[in-house]
Amino acid sequence: MGGETITRKKKKFAKEPNFTEKKTYRPEGVKETGLAFIGHEISEDGNTMNQFLHYDQLYTIRHGWNSKFFKGLLEGKIWGTKCPKCGDTWVPVRTHCWNLDCNLEKTEWVEMPLTAKVHTWTIAGWSGRSSLKRLPIVLVYAVIGDSKVAIANELHGIDSWDAEFGMPLKIVFKPKGERSGIITDFHFEPTNDWKPSPTNEEKERIKQLVEPVYEWVKTLK
Ligand SMILES: [Zn+2]
Repeated sequence: MGGETITRKKKKFAKEPNFTEKKTYRPEGVKETGLAFIGHEISEDGNTMNQFLHYDQLYTIRHGWNSKFFKGLLEGKIWGTKCPKCGDTWVPVRTHCWNLDCNLEKTEWVEMPLTAKVHTWTIAGWSGRSSLKRLPIVLVYAVIGDSKVAIANELHGIDSWDAEFGMPLKIVFKPKGERSGIITDFHFEPTNDWKPSPTNEEKERIKQLVEPVYEWVKTLK
């Protein structure tokens, strides 16, 4: 057996981006750090975004090829990716097609509609300290546009027991000045023409479980 020569087609590491647009939004005089996104930076060519997460220590999250999605959140847009071979789209984004027939074809960016559908949902009756006053929280996995996968976020503007599989949603962004390029820059709400279905046994059961949570939250200072 003869030896094999392996030729590398690509350099092992990409060139370090030149970060020119930096924003810091860490509040002054923070004593208890907890978990907070405290800033981000975007490269000169606009292709790469770093995000700074303080979780007792400072973490830098390099979004790499997914940067456009997070930059899009700053602009109030949802970017997905689409496979040029089979046409499948993805939010959360996939840099390569997950359809096995496509042999990891590189995907392309596509702007998604600001509408979605509930795939599945749950009601959180307990949480970390920072979210206690917002309980109960309706969490959904929703399919944005014709995405092949679902994305998790909160559903607002609804009595929690009225959540339904398949219900139509709109994506609502925070005001521009309050966005940080993170997933909580937006939440879901029912579309304007949606009406909850009449009450039934299951809704009553959930209501009984959830109502004490609403009452308990009122007692929090
Ligand atoms: Zn494909």
